[in-house]
Amino acid sequence: MIPLIKQKLVPFAFLLASVAVVHGCKEGEGLNILSLEQDVELGRQVSAEIEKDPKQYPLLPETGREGRNEQAYAYLRGIVGRILNSGKVTYKDELPWQVKIIQNDTTLNAFAAPGGFIYVYTGLIKYLDGEDQLAGVLAHEIAHADKRHTSRTITREYGYDLILSVLLGENQSTLVNVARGLVGLRYSRGFEEEADQYSVIYLCNTQYRSDGAAGFFQKMQQEGGGQGVPEFLSTHPNPGDRVTDITRQAQSQNCNLSNFPNAQYARFKSLLP
Ligand SMILES: [Zn+2]
Repeated sequence: MIPLIKQKLVPFAFLLASVAVVHGCKEGEGLNILSLEQDVELGRQVSAEIEKDPKQYPLLPETGREGRNEQAYAYLRGIVGRILNSGKVTYKDELPWQVKIIQNDTTLNAFAAPGGFIYVYTGLIKYLDGEDQLAGVLAHEIAHADKRHTSRTITREYGYDLILSVLLGENQSTLVNVARGLVGLRYSRGFEEEADQYSVIYLCNTQYRSDGAAGFFQKMQQEGGGQGVPEFLSTHPNPGDRVTDITRQAQSQNCNLSNFPNAQYARFKSLLP
C-alpha cells in the first residue's frame, strides 16, 4: 500500500556507504540515516493516514461555512508564513510546510510530522490567550520538523538495521507501523529543549513576542487544561524549567518582548466551529 520507499530506492552500495558515513559522525542527539526527501515522503504518509481516519482526526475542511473556514485557514497560514520568513528556518524552501486544523475542542495539542506537515487542534486554539502564544507553539512545531527530530528519533528507536530494511523496501508493514507511530511520538527532553530554543530564535525578529511558547506553558502550569486534556505535555515532555529557559533566552538575545494585539485572535476563534 505504500510505495514510499520503492520510489526512492537508493542503490544498495550507495546506501551502505552512507550508513558507514553516518556511523562515523555524531550529529547531536541521534543520528539520521534518512534523507530530507525521505522525511517528506514519511510526512506525506503520515498525512495520508490522518486523512483516512476522519473519526480520530476530523480535519476542518479548507473551504465552507460561508467562507469562515477559508478565513480561519488564511489567518493560521499568515502566522506560519511569518515564522517561515524569519530568515532562521533552515529548510524553509525545501520542505512543503502545510498546516491543518483538527476539530476537537477537548484536546490541547499540536504536532508536526516530518517534512513540515503541521496539525493544530481547535481545543488548543480556543484555549490560548492570543496570537503570541499560538505563534510560539507553531514555532516549536516548525522547529521539530526543521531540525528533523522525528527522523532522528525513529533512527534511534527502530535502529539502523530495521530502517535499512525499510529503506530497501523489504519491510512494508513495518513502514506502515512506523508512520502510524509517528503521530503520538514522544520526543526526548533534548529535542524539546532544542524546539523551545528555536521557537525563540524563529520569533526573535518577528512581530510576535519571542517567548510566546513560554506563555502557553505557563498558562498550562497555572490553570491546567480546563475541560481539555493537555496532551501536548505527554508528547512534548517538559525538559526542565522551560518557562524560565525560554524567557531568559529571549531576554539575553534582545528579542522582541512586546505583546502582539489580540483582537484578531479573538476573531479567529470565532471563525471556528
Ligand atoms: Zn515539542
